[in-house]
This record gives sequence, structure tokens and C-alpha cells, in this order.
Amino acid sequence: MFHSSYIEISKSALQHNISFIKEQLAPDVRLSSVVKGNAYGHGIEEFVGIAHACGLDHFSVFSADEAFRIQQVLPNSATIMIMGFIDDSELEWAVAHDIEFYVFSTEKLESAAVAARKLQKPARVHLDIETGMNRIGLGGDELERAADFILANQALFEVAGICTHFAGAESQENHDRVAGQIARYNEAVDLLKTKGIVARQLHSACSAAVMAYPETHLDMVRVGIMQYGFWSSPEIYYRYMGLSTDRTDPLKRIINWKSHIMSLKLVKAGEFIGYGTSYQATFDMKTAAVPVGYAWGYSRALSNQGEVLIREHRAPVVGIVNMNVLMVDVTGIPDVALKDEVVLLGNQGKESITVASFAELSTQLNYELLTRLPMNIPRYIID
Ligand SMILES: *Cc1c(COP(=O)(O)O)cnc(C)c1O
Repeated sequence: MFHSSYIEISKSALQHNISFIKEQLAPDVRLSSVVKGNAYGHGIEEFVGIAHACGLDHFSVFSADEAFRIQQVLPNSATIMIMGFIDDSELEWAVAHDIEFYVFSTEKLESAAVAARKLQKPARVHLDIETGMNRIGLGGDELERAADFILANQALFEVAGICTHFAGAESQENHDRVAGQIARYNEAVDLLKTKGIVARQLHSACSAAVMAYPETHLDMVRVGIMQYGFWSSPEIYYRYMGLSTDRTDPLKRIINWKSHIMSLKLVKAGEFIGYGTSYQATFDMKTAAVPVGYAWGYSRALSNQGEVLIREHRAPVVGIVNMNVLMVDVTGIPDVALKDEVVLLGNQGKESITVASFAELSTQLNYELLTRLPMNIPRYIID
């Protein structure tokens, strides 16, 4: 099957980012690679394969189906941790395969105990502490009840972790809230210790906290966006750049999204291009059609706004982005031809289309834009 576009994932860029992240950590801090959301759109199977080859052996996902996909690629050679949803029906599978998972309620512990008893094998649980995000997490009495249940069923549980997640470590604006979360987390760890529960690992930091709150590194950090070569926020980027002596971005994007020109056309001055009247040629133009549209994750908000790269030139999107096609102005590009490579995201020669510029134009965060890249675009690994 010929695909209208494809994604390349660079192993050398990933290796570079992993090295940078490890430089931020003390040598005994474990790095968990967060690969939820189809590895932030990069493709979970392809990504974990190269990440493992780059030395990573701990992966964090949102749900059991994602854990299952990793397990198919890396059977028994990595620790897999589910940070979000696991259905009761999936607990037995998780326990049997040493998949670790977060718990947010005593009910989930009770269901896990059933699976563990049946398999005669402890469930590896992480106690997710409610510290102020107010999303999911064990707080107050619920934490005490969960602890008591574990203590009453010690053979059925291995407390693999005590953890929490910060509500906005990427912005200084949230500093007091994050500081409060750190304090409440420490109180919960102490409370559990008093009761007799000591976890194998304490962990709380995401990418932003790795950079802005070194005191949160603890035994392990859970890093998503940075390994893909993006900063959590412009603020985290400028903060780092302000502190560093070397003024170049230490992260490298590992993704390129590419297509090809499917058709070329000459359009006379005065004609409209595409649906409606949003773009009128003001001079005699040459346009190229590219077989990618919003059905493929190229936002309609990039209509008359986005840019692509062709023959190392920037070509602006003209007219409305269609479901499967977009048009670009190639008037000034010498020798432009059918089947020329079109870079939607990433590099071509010295030029690049960054997700940041792309995301600002379409008012999507890096995170959202990446994870909206459909699963059925093929992913290829390059050096
Ligand atoms: C997504 C997520 C992370 C990683 O966040 P990044 O900002 O991408 O580093 C860490 N922990 C939890 C619980 C998450 O959901």
C-alpha cells in the first residue's frame, strides 16, 4: 500500500535527548519513558523499540491497551507502568505479566487482591497520592483505608511506588500550588511510613519538574515531552537558556512528517483557490496539491496560515485545508516537480517546520498536535 504521507523517527536525535535528560539527573535516578498517547503521536511500537535500544527499560503509559502494545514489542525486557486506567478485567493479565499500575481507590486494590490471590503472585501497585491536582489520586481517609487494606493483605501486594503528579510545573505562575503539592506528598509518604508501608520507589517529576524542581527527582522521573525533543513550555525553555552558557537548544526533534506533491497547477491572477473565496490569486501562480488534510491531523486552522518545505523552500498553504488535500504556493520554487518531497513537520536541508510554530499557528499545544497524528500514518525509523 502506498501511503499519502509518512512519519520518520530519528534514533540519533532520541539518543541525544536521552543523554541530555540524564545529565539533569543524579546517576541513581531512574528514567521512565512516558509513551502514552501513542508515544505522543510518534508511534508506540516504533518508539519503544528504539528507546530500548538507546538503553531505556522503563515505560509509562495511560492504559492497559498501551501496556499490551509495549509488551508485544519488548516481551519481559522492560518495566511497564500504567499511570491511568486499568479495568478490573485486565488486572489478572497485569499481575501475571508483572505490569505495574497506579491505584486510586480501595475498590481497585480489592479487585487487584482477587487477581493476586488467584495467581498466587503479588500485584505491583503504585499509590497515587492526591496532593492538589484534584484529578485522580488517593487523599485523606481514602489513603488511610487503602493503606490498611494493603497491610491486612501484605502477601498480595508489592508497593512498587508512591507517586503524585504536579498541576502545572511548567509555569512559575503555579509555583505556590506545586510547592504545596510537594509538601502534601512528603506528608503522605511519612504517614505511610509510620503505618509500615515503604515503597520501592518514590516518584513525582514530569519533564517540567525535572528542569524546574530538582528536589522532585526522588528515585525516578517520568519524562514524556522532552524525550521527543520538545520543551514543556516556552517558559521552561527560556529558563534553561537563561541559565546555560551554550546558547543552542539542547533538544532535537525526533519526528519528521513527509508527503509528496500529487499535482501541480497554474492559476491565473484573480482566480480563487480551493473551497470558497478565502484565497484569491493576486498574481499568476503555480500551486501544488499535497495529499494530506485534517483527516490526517493537519489542522484546518492552518488554512492560509501553515507552511511546508519543498526543495528547501518554504511554501505557504493557500486556501482552506481540506479533509485529505491541501494546496501550497510553489510559484517561486525553481524546478518544482510532481512527486517532490513535501515536509509538513521537521527538517529539509537548513529549513525546518517546528511543531512550536505549527502549534502556535493552529493554537494547539505541542502535546495536542503530536498526539493527533493518526495511528495509521506509517512510521519509519531513521538514524
Ligand atoms: C503525561 C504524564 C507525565 C509526563 O509528562 P511530560 O510533561 O510529557 O513530561 C508524567 N506523569 C504523568 C502522571 C503523566 O500523566
